[in-house]
Amino acid sequence: MIATRFAIAGNVPIFDIDIPVGQLYFPDWTRYESAVKDIFDRRYYTNQGPLAQELESRLQQMLGVKHVICVVNATVGLMMAAEALELKGKVILPSFTFLASAQSLSWTGLQPVFCDVASNTHHIDVSKAKQMITKDVSAIMAVNLWGGAADITALEQLVQETGIKLYFDSAHAFGCEVNGQKVGCFGSLEVMSFHATKMLSATEGGCICTNDDDLAAKLRNIRSSYGAGHTVSVVKTSNGRMSELQAAIALLNLDDFEINRANNEATFLAYQKHLAGIPGLKLISPSGVSRSNYQYIVCEVNTEQFGVTRQQLLSILKAENINARRYFYPGVHRSVEFNSLYNKQKNALTITELLCETCIQLPVGALLDIDKVEVICNLIRSAQRNSAKLLHYLDSDS
Ligand SMILES: *Cc1c(COP(=O)(O)O)cnc(C)c1O
Repeated sequence: MIATRFAIAGNVPIFDIDIPVGQLYFPDWTRYESAVKDIFDRRYYTNQGPLAQELESRLQQMLGVKHVICVVNATVGLMMAAEALELKGKVILPSFTFLASAQSLSWTGLQPVFCDVASNTHHIDVSKAKQMITKDVSAIMAVNLWGGAADITALEQLVQETGIKLYFDSAHAFGCEVNGQKVGCFGSLEVMSFHATKMLSATEGGCICTNDDDLAAKLRNIRSSYGAGHTVSVVKTSNGRMSELQAAIALLNLDDFEINRANNEATFLAYQKHLAGIPGLKLISPSGVSRSNYQYIVCEVNTEQFGVTRQQLLSILKAENINARRYFYPGVHRSVEFNSLYNKQKNALTITELLCETCIQLPVGALLDIDKVEVICNLIRSAQRNSAKLLHYLDSDS
């Protein structure tokens, strides 16, 4: 059924409850209750307890990586990573990313250098990154986005040629594979996020993955964990510890990872089917991976072809209780902290600028019933067909 009556025009919304946008998976309550009872019985909340240790060893096994260091969240993980890698001066990273990627650098006294992304993949444009390497640049932080991956082969070749370091913000890429190898094994290290909206939730949380023994020892020391093996000297320590309660949720969600991944894939395929052929709307497929977690449903909106702007489409969806959102907006290079730096750099971030103005993220995750995908898509199709009429009900400056 194609909707012709829109809530933005004063009709009853298609959904009577909010459809959220992220993963938001809640494991079965009785399993959680029993895990928390164990924590109470042990009287042990934090400091690398048995659940944090179990989570680390299960993740090491699953990801095929030597060391997993669980942390309180990925932002702190990225800051610990910059410290452990002993980075100096400037670090190149894509400008089309979440604010935390860049802020992890400024918090550790480093200067971010923003590189544009490739229009077809949304990932760092490696040929542009190459041109930006100067003697002040100590590393590239690539970001693996939308359940996809950057061009890892090209990046590894580039850092080999130039002797700088490579690490990854893989907050979006938990459980993805590149040529059959799990994300987590690449570069000097990779950082994952276990925030509630991400693929694997620990409510808040994250981990650092590395095959490098010395780096792992440093990271454990920076995290201030206790009894985690031999310590090596580090300049600064932090508090990056993951609590037992966080680890309990992560372990339960890890048990259900394959179900959630399959559910996301089915959701993605349903969007792909039902959004096909809508003028001015392009669904982004995860790029650079042989297996995706399908954690994000991202579309580019071309206003000329679609008939309304990205912002107007968001308003139409919001009126129907569908929470789509702009992502990433504003661009990191346009944020208060980095705007002046960006102006000084005078880099051409044209693709990033365009994507920040045109991308929307549509609902996905455990709280989205897959039957609703077709309804959402039909509504979007109808909005495009009726765009001229709908303009009447929409703010023109949005
Ligand atoms: C979510 C996210 C982060 C930060 O993760 P937290 O666990 O919330 O600190 C960093 N980078 C990217 C790309 C993200 O999406």
